[in-house]
Amino acid sequence: MNKIAMSAISIATVGHSASALSWFFPLTKKILPTITGYNHGQRYTAISFDDGPDPSYTPLILEILANSNTKATFFMLGQMVEKYKSLTKEVADEGHAIALHGYEHRNHLFRSAKTIAFDLRRGKEVVEETTERKIELYRPPYGVISGGTIYGCHKNDLKVITWTNWGRDWRAVATAQTVVDDVFRYDPRGGTILLHDSDCTSAPGSINSTIGALPLIIDRLRDESIEIGPITSR
Ligand SMILES: [Zn+2]
Repeated sequence: MNKIAMSAISIATVGHSASALSWFFPLTKKILPTITGYNHGQRYTAISFDDGPDPSYTPLILEILANSNTKATFFMLGQMVEKYKSLTKEVADEGHAIALHGYEHRNHLFRSAKTIAFDLRRGKEVVEETTERKIELYRPPYGVISGGTIYGCHKNDLKVITWTNWGRDWRAVATAQTVVDDVFRYDPRGGTILLHDSDCTSAPGSINSTIGALPLIIDRLRDESIEIGPITSR
């Protein structure tokens, strides 16, 4: 990846506090379609959840997904998987795709390549052991991709995926309506939506906005004849 492309995605995805920069999405998804999960074709949108599993929210998300016959990708934290193994298995058993969000939720800008590689290995091992699935996709905390992220992924045979649309559901002021509005601020067709199934790294209670928004997001995508599912490479 060239330097311009790398800096564009670093700026665009610098983190939860970078909402003012979300206008970069139309640019980044075009120049970095594979990394941003913008490769699903115009009749398909992927839904993904970060930071879980979390007993306060993940079961509610699973219920909404089951009721609407929807599958998604869950980017799990190794630390959460260790604490909530049976819930982790439940997500996998429901037929959702399982991916890695790291063992710890730490910004890669401030970590060495070796530390990142170790974190990814530790996270991948615990998620693979618990789910008995091979983990291939990785989303770095805050979407920040550093040289160490690339090194860590290479060492652990992982592919980086960020997102094209987000609900900004981590914010204390988020409501179901703001999450829906943010998700549809840009055309989601062909892309990947970022939501969360835990508030362990964000404002306490913020994920209630996700619970309210998710059925509305699913209905609106289906109304627009868009198929919904996990991240795929098709
Ligand atoms: Zn996260």
